[in-house]
Amino acid sequence: MGRIRRLDPQVIDQIAAGEVVERPASVVKELVENSLDAGARRIRVAVEAGGLRSIVVADDGCGMDPEDAVLALERHATSKITRLDDLVHAGTLGFRGEALAAIASVARVELLTRAADADAGCRVVVEGGTRRSVGPWASPPGTRVTVRDLFFNTPARRKHLKGLAAEFGRIADVVTAHALARPEVRFELWHDGRPVLQTSGSGDRAVAVLECFGPDVAAALIPVAGRRDGYRVEGYVGAPRVARASRAWQFISVNRRPVQVASLRFSLENAYRHLLPARRHPVAVIEVAVPGEEVDVNVHPAKLEVRLARERAVAGLLYEAVREALADRDLLRPGAGWG
Ligand code: ADP
Ligand code: MG
Repeated sequence: MGRIRRLDPQVIDQIAAGEVVERPASVVKELVENSLDAGARRIRVAVEAGGLRSIVVADDGCGMDPEDAVLALERHATSKITRLDDLVHAGTLGFRGEALAAIASVARVELLTRAADADAGCRVVVEGGTRRSVGPWASPPGTRVTVRDLFFNTPARRKHLKGLAAEFGRIADVVTAHALARPEVRFELWHDGRPVLQTSGSGDRAVAVLECFGPDVAAALIPVAGRRDGYRVEGYVGAPRVARASRAWQFISVNRRPVQVASLRFSLENAYRHLLPARRHPVAVIEVAVPGEEVDVNVHPAKLEVRLARERAVAGLLYEAVREALADRDLLRPGAGWG
């Protein structure tokens, strides 16, 4: 008898979950992305015990009808693309159709949703990849996903996590990054019943920055703006005096998707050369707009890295825009320093 066996779908999901769902913050990221893709104007995130006990993400987006609610939790089920080509035009944060299924394979998930035009809502419960119940349920329009006991059936994953405070810190970073990239959306973040972050959804990035960073840092921000060859860079950078000991206060988004792109970070830091002492990093909130067809998001399942077709041109524009902003405030003059 041969030794090769096809993997059980449940095991396949758990393996996929390893790439998409590394920690509680990855769950929050996927759920918030879904809410944004659903057109939500208001997103409430409430977590307990660093997200390990529970994560709730509730939105006022388009919701789902009962049929879609069941499909949404299945593997490779997405409403966002049908062909690989669509990726370029999708303009959505998600497209792989695997996040909800992956999360549901390593946690207990309750999906409660109601389409705007439907009379009633629907509730689906999946635990460790097994559907437990599905049926009509009272619900406001929109969607609420509750994820409990993350990694209850994959203890090895749980061991890799940091303390609850550190896990919560990453969740706060995810919500902050999205709140800064989407100032027109109202975000709320709660931890163990206490409010941690709230934005007003004013649509004004400066207001969102104030709401996320507080008045002291906000008062030290310098506007950045640059455009060239169809690229646009805009946002704020911090005066040298509010530089930080880590890069945690640098939020860069490409076409409103929070990303990690090493060359963009490098350009930002490089623009501050000689202005900061060693191991100090500028505060920054930067949105980079590039033509959709020049961004490849399908690099890694977590979609945090993106590839830019003309990365050097974009990084160059970012560098110049930040230098100009600093020069405007007379911060590039010898001796202007970080005092
Ligand atoms: P993807 O986002 O890559 O399509 P997901 O597994 O994250 O895959 O979600 C599957 C599908 O479920 C989405 O394509 C969308 O149609 C639906 N969905 C998920 N979350 C929401 C939500 N908050 N509101 C409305 N629809 C949702
Ligand atoms: Mg998604």
